[in-house]
Parts: sequence; C-alpha cells; structure tokens
Amino acid sequence: MAFESLSDKLQNVFKNLRSKGRLTEADVKASLKEVKMALLEADVNFKVVKQFINSVTERAVGQDVMNSLTPGQMVIKIVNEEMVALMGSETTEIKLNNSNELTVIMMAGLQGAGKTTTSAKIAGKLKAKGRKPLLVACDVYRPAAIKQLQVNGEKQGVPVFSMGDYQNPVDIAKAAIEHAKSNDLNVVILDTAGRLHVDETMMEELANIQKAIKVDQTIFVVDAMTGQDAVNVAKSFNEQIELDGVILTKMDGDTRGGAALSIRAVTGKPILYVGMGEKLSDLEQFYPDRMASRILGMGDILTLIDKAQSQIDEDKARELNQKIKKATFGYDDLLESLNQVKNMGGIADMLSMLPGVGSQLKNVEVDDSQFSRIEAIILSMTPEERANPDLINPSRKKRIAQGAGVDISEVNKLAKMLEQMKKMMKQFGGSLPKAGKRGKFK
Ligand code: GDP
Repeated sequence: MAFESLSDKLQNVFKNLRSKGRLTEADVKASLKEVKMALLEADVNFKVVKQFINSVTERAVGQDVMNSLTPGQMVIKIVNEEMVALMGSETTEIKLNNSNELTVIMMAGLQGAGKTTTSAKIAGKLKAKGRKPLLVACDVYRPAAIKQLQVNGEKQGVPVFSMGDYQNPVDIAKAAIEHAKSNDLNVVILDTAGRLHVDETMMEELANIQKAIKVDQTIFVVDAMTGQDAVNVAKSFNEQIELDGVILTKMDGDTRGGAALSIRAVTGKPILYVGMGEKLSDLEQFYPDRMASRILGMGDILTLIDKAQSQIDEDKARELNQKIKKATFGYDDLLESLNQVKNMGGIADMLSMLPGVGSQLKNVEVDDSQFSRIEAIILSMTPEERANPDLINPSRKKRIAQGAGVDISEVNKLAKMLEQMKKMMKQFGGSLPKAGKRGKFK
C-alpha cells in the first residue's frame, strides 16, 4: 500500500506531539528531526526534505504555535499544509483544446514505465468525457508495443492508428493527425518509444516530434517504484524536452512514496495522474491535499467517494465530511461507505482511505467474506444502535452477534474499529480537505 511505512512513522511522531500539553521549541525540533528521517527513509529527495523541514520549522517554532491551546495539533496542521504545497497545492488537468480543435498529447518515458498502458487509460478517461481520442503507436522498437496498444484500445473502444514497425515516428505522428482529422477524432495520443536508460537517440526522437508537429501536451510517464531514479530521469527529460506534466505509475506497489513527494519540487512540473494498478480503470486524478491526508493517516474520504462512482452529489460528500469533522460518524455511515466500495476490488486499499483505518488494517487481509460479515453485523443492529453506537451494551452485542451469525468478538472488533476511526476523526477533523474541491477531468 502506498506510503505505508512513511505514514506509520509520521503517525507515531504525531502521537508523541499530541500527547504533550505544552511544547517547547526543542520538542518541536526533535519531532521535526524524526519527520526528516522518515522522509529520507521514504526516499524523498535530500534537498526537498531539507527545504520542507526548513519551511515547517520556520512556521512551527513561533510563539503563536507554542502558546496556542493545542500546539501539537498546530504543528501537524503545518506539516499537512506544507506537504500539500510540496505536491503542488492545486489539482492540474491535462489541458485540452476546444472539442472542435485537435489536441495532440505525447507520452514520453523510459521503457517499462507504463506509457502504453497509461495511454489507453487516458484515452478511456477522455472518451468518458465525450472526447474522441485516437491512440497512435509510435513505439516502433518494443516488439509487443503495437499489439499491446491495439488490445488496450479495443478494450477501451478507442481506435488505434499504426503503421506497423515503420521506423520514423515523425511520419507516423503526421499521418495519424491526418487520419484523426479525416475521421472526426479530436485528441491524438502518441505512445512513443522508450529506452532502458535516458539516451540521446530517444531524446532526439521526441524533440523531432515536438519540432515537426504541434504537440499540445507532453506528458512524462514514470514508475513511482523507482524512487529517486524516477526523479532523476524526470529531471533529465525535463531539461531536454519541454514537459507539461507527470504521471506516476505503479503507485499501488510503491510503499515508500519518495517520487510522489519529490517530483514536483525537483522538476516544477505538476503530477496529473497516478497509476494505481494494471487494469485500465486504475488511473486516479492527483489531488495534493488528498494525497497528503493519506500520507498523514487522515484518510481520504473524498477519493473513496469518487472511486465509488456512485451518484453521490457534492451535498452528500460534504455531509460525510462534516460527520467526520464532528466525529459523529456512525455505523450507518460506515456501512454506506463500505457498500460503495463493495464490488470495486482492493477493499483493503479502499478502507485505508477512511481515517484511522489504515494502520488497523496493516496485517489484516480484508476479503469479500470479511466484508460480508461486517455488513451482516451492522445490519443486525437497530437503526438507533447504528446511529448511536454508545447504546450497544453487552447484551445488545450478544443479540447482534447472534443475528449476524458471528462470534461476539467480531462485534467487539468492529466496535473498536469505529471507535478508533472516530478518535482519529476528532484529532484530524479540522485539517481535512474541503469537500467539493473536485477536478472536472475525471
Ligand atoms: P511502456 O514500456 O512504458 O509502454 O510500459 P507498459 O505500458 O508496457 O507497462 C509496463 C508494465 O507495467 C506492464 O506490465 C503494465 O501492466 C504495468 N503497469 C503500468 N501501469 C501500472 C500501474 O499503475 N500499476 C501496476 N501495478 N502496473 C502497471
């Protein structure tokens, strides 16, 4: 799970901070030193860490913070805000021309980064938005790339343009643009060839495409699991060809998170999307505030709601966020959140987006049968019990366990989980991102 160990470490630092009523400058500095270590261990770029800690320290050791009622909370809030800023503050969209004008997107990156897969993922998103994309096979070196693009294009219901292994990507791109124009297609996505390492021929090839045709967006695709290498490669690409944004792939397998935290600061280019799996639907818009929430263990209820792709409107999202802020989240809310994620796979990943659940789930495999048990337990409660869990005394617990056909210990475990979540919600409520700040290009 992304950021797992960083998140664990930061939560420990914060626990210590919160446990102290008063804080001295030395306390804050000692905590920030631990934050620094945690970031370095997460493979965040050294310079970025230094700058980050400087910014946080500057804001956190002032008298305003020291004399406030909850200095620990204030420090955490500052870390959160600086982390959001580090990742770019705003959500950045892929810029598209008007529908009646062609937009050309060029995907660049090393071999194996995930360009072909991501091209198809993007094409699917654009199609869902009402655009008419064309996938173009410019990766003429990797033998299977063309076939892979065709297969993925077919899955997405998006046409694929190819000239076989004809060797000149500039000609292919030009022909593809003509093809798009004459077939009423309005976005061309060029899947270019990568190499194992940054090399001159590859850069020249990309630069030649940029020179020969009007590329509207050059998107750099990079494997998040390669950590600082990813950042170095991004830097090198950015110096040689003009990039507009970055997509970090394989975030699902990246437990450290260094690339996500460094790449914006090092290249100055925004992260547009993150790849969260091999399936063509596994591409998430990048929200710096939500990502910071996840890293700091505050959960990410907004992404959870987006993921559910249910008809939940902004009001509903706001209501749930409000409940979290006030820690009045009951079993009904838990059940509703769980129901939304039920058939989406990766339940453990989903649940970890609920505040306070991440660390609880660390060594627990949440599978569908476990999910059904949780559901059965909640459904065995009366509506009053669901809304007001404090009503549930031992005899009610026994009745609920019997009704759900589970052991009473399972009811206790669920109660503990809800309790833990509410505790976290109380602690973090004030610093949760606002509901309703959602991108248009999803
Ligand atoms: P390319 O050489 O840059 O075109 O890379 P591919 O698109 O062929 O991807 C290389 C491998 O990474 C493939 O096996 C993909 O399924 C896999 N991949 C791509 N994106 C993701 C992702 O976000 N998560 C995971 N787990 N795998 C991914």
